[in-house]
Amino acid sequence: MTYKERDKQHLWHPLTQHQVHPESTAIVRAEGCTLFDEDGHSYIDAIASWYTCMYGHCNLYITSKVSAQMQTLDQVVFSSMTHPPAIELAEALVSILPNNQEKLFFSDNGSTAVEVGIKMALQYHFNKGERRHVLIAFEDGFHGDTFGAMSVSGLSVYNGPFEDFFLEVKRIPTPDGSNHERIIEQLKDLSKDHKIAAFVYEPLVQGAAAMQMHNKNGLDQILQFCKTHGIITVADEVMTGFGKTGKHFASLHLTTQPDVICLSKALTAGLLPMAITSCSLEIYEAFLSDDITKGFFHGHTYSANPLACTAALAGIELLLSEDMQENIQNIIHSHQGFGEHIAQHPKVKSVRQTGIIFALDINTKMERYGNLRDRLFQFFMDHGVFLRPLGNTIYILAPFTISQGELNTIYQVIESALDSVI
Ligand SMILES: *Cc1c(COP(=O)(O)O)cnc(C)c1O
Repeated sequence: MTYKERDKQHLWHPLTQHQVHPESTAIVRAEGCTLFDEDGHSYIDAIASWYTCMYGHCNLYITSKVSAQMQTLDQVVFSSMTHPPAIELAEALVSILPNNQEKLFFSDNGSTAVEVGIKMALQYHFNKGERRHVLIAFEDGFHGDTFGAMSVSGLSVYNGPFEDFFLEVKRIPTPDGSNHERIIEQLKDLSKDHKIAAFVYEPLVQGAAAMQMHNKNGLDQILQFCKTHGIITVADEVMTGFGKTGKHFASLHLTTQPDVICLSKALTAGLLPMAITSCSLEIYEAFLSDDITKGFFHGHTYSANPLACTAALAGIELLLSEDMQENIQNIIHSHQGFGEHIAQHPKVKSVRQTGIIFALDINTKMERYGNLRDRLFQFFMDHGVFLRPLGNTIYILAPFTISQGELNTIYQVIESALDSVI
C-alpha cells in the first residue's frame, strides 16, 4: 500500500472536508524550495509550507545547529529553570523587534501566541483594577483556532459552530486609504463606555483573508487612537514576521508600535513548533506584585524548548545575513516585474504586493473551498508547483532562498492556469 492509501485509515487532516477531499499527497522528502512525493514527483513550495520555511527546507546551517543542541540539552522545565538557547534567542530577537518590546513569553503555536496576547491584555486591565472585557478586531481577520484566537477571527467559514461561545468582539473595517476617518468615528463610539481591553490585528497584510493589504497611514491612525484610549494593541505578526514584508516585522513600517506582538510560523524557520508573545515593559510591570495571583499563570509543558529556540536563533542569524537580505530584495523586484506583466491579463482583476508577499485577484468568482479553486490547485500541482488559491486570490509567499528560475516557473504556471483553467 502507498502512504497515500495508508494515510486514509487513521488520519484526520486539518481544514479538510474528508468526504470531498479523501486524498493527501504523501511528501517523503524536502530540500531547499522543493517537496518530493512518494511517486517521485517534485513540487516547488511556493507558499513556504504556510510561511514557515523561509530559509529553505532542511537548511543545513539550521539542522546542524539543532542536531548539536539535541545532544547537549533536549528539554527542560521552563518554570524555575532557564537555559542558554532561550537566553540567546531572547537577546537576538529583542534586538530586531520594535524598540519598545522588552519581554518574551513562550508558547507552542500561532494560536497560543494570540491567546497569550489576549490574556495579557485582559489581565493588564484587571491588575490595574479596571474591568475591560471587549476586544476589537478587523473584519476577515484570522488569528488561530483556540477560543480566544477564534473569537477575534472574523472568517466565519472556520468559526460557525463555536460563535455562541466567543469572547465579546467588535469589528472594524480594514483601512483602505479612504475610510480611516469613519473607522476612527466608529472607534470613538465603541470606546465611550471604556470597556475596550485590546485591539488585535494583523499589521498590513491579512494572510488568511487572501493577503488583503492595509493602508499604512490608516492603520497608524487606528493604533494612535488605541494608545490614547488605554486600548492595548496586540499585533499578530505570526504570518508577517521575519522579513516577509521587506522589513524584519510589519510593525516596523508603522510609526506607532504595538504593546504586544505575537510570533510563530517563520520564528523557528519551519523546523519545530514554537511561538513567542513579546510585550513592552509597561505591560510586564503590570504583572509585578507582592500578590502572587497578579502574575501571569499561563504555561505550556514545552515552553521554550531548547531545540526550537536553537532553530529560531539560527533562523534569525540567516535572516540578518547579507545574502538573505539580498535575496529578499531580489524577490521583491522580481515580483514587481511579474505584477506589471500579469496585471494586463484579461482574467486578472488586480495585483498587490507587500515585500515578498504577492497576490493577484482573478475576475471569476470562486468559492473559498469550491470546485474552480480545486481545479486550479490541481493544475498547479500537476505542473509541479505547490500553491493554495484562497477565494478569488492566487498568492505567492516563497522561501527567501528561491532561485530566479524557480520563480519564473511559478509565474509561468500561474499564467498558463489563467489561460487554460479560469
Ligand atoms: C497561522 C496564523 C495563526 C495561527 O497559527 P497556528 O500556528 O496555525 O496556530 C495566527 N495568526 C496568523 C496571522 C496566522 O497566519
